[in-house]
Amino acid sequence: MRIVIDNVGKKFKKSKKEETTALEDINFTIHEKEFVVLVGPSGCGKSTLLNIVGGLLSPSSGSIYFEDMEDEKREPTVSIVFQEIALFPWRTVYQNVIYGLEEKKMSKQDQMEKGNYYIDMVGLSEFKHAYPKQLSGGMKQRVGIGRALAVEPDLLLMDEPFSALDAQTRTLMQEELLTIWNRTQLSTLYVTHNIEEAVYLADRVIVLSRHPGRIKEIIPIDLPKMGRGDAQYRAQFDDYAEQIWQLIRQDAVDALKE
Ligand code: ADP
Ligand code: MG
Repeated sequence: MRIVIDNVGKKFKKSKKEETTALEDINFTIHEKEFVVLVGPSGCGKSTLLNIVGGLLSPSSGSIYFEDMEDEKREPTVSIVFQEIALFPWRTVYQNVIYGLEEKKMSKQDQMEKGNYYIDMVGLSEFKHAYPKQLSGGMKQRVGIGRALAVEPDLLLMDEPFSALDAQTRTLMQEELLTIWNRTQLSTLYVTHNIEEAVYLADRVIVLSRHPGRIKEIIPIDLPKMGRGDAQYRAQFDDYAEQIWQLIRQDAVDALKE
């Protein structure tokens, strides 16, 4: 199975006469079990692209399709985790996580098994019966991730899921996400403006330019998936980060002026 982003473009109406080209000529493939990170400065079209892949926005040109599905008749499923997770405040952690399973009309028994499995995976077993307002920001993101995983999607989409968290929590969540990914091996498209985060998580980093949003470069990260933060990889890690920074530097400077 793979997800093909085929010549995607997106224009938005700025005013009656004016249009902005948010995305142009976007071509890439997310392979099975691959973790692809989209990186680029603010306004380069990352969220727009993620929302198009997730089917929340339609492209102005091009298309998205799944190839080589094991079960051709089944509709592919996609889960999205946003920066600001909208949890149902009147539902407990458990009820939030199983929301998608209820929608799928899964049996209560299966809901419980999957719900508990994924709540455990995101480290919230002790907070199963808590309500969102009782949780810290990092814990809310865990619930959002648990809910996205519980439906066992073909593709996981994440739009800056940790960028509202403090630096330490974010580092811990990144580590945890890798551990979770190691268990689920989900094909993932992850959006961030944070270069270190991109190098830490990605199998491949796609660098976008802005105005219009185009692919500037695709960089495979040739480091072991786990333990990239270790001292032995420091030099290579920094080289990748520097390479990406040089690619987006001017765009980031321009973004500041707007
Ligand atoms: P990013 O997530 O990389 O910060 P976005 O995808 O949010 O960037 O936005 C890309 C460009 O498209 C920006 O110039 C933004 O102003 C424009 N844009 C995004 N959504 C809309 C919309 N609904 N209507 C008009 N313009 C939009
Ligand atoms: Mg965005």
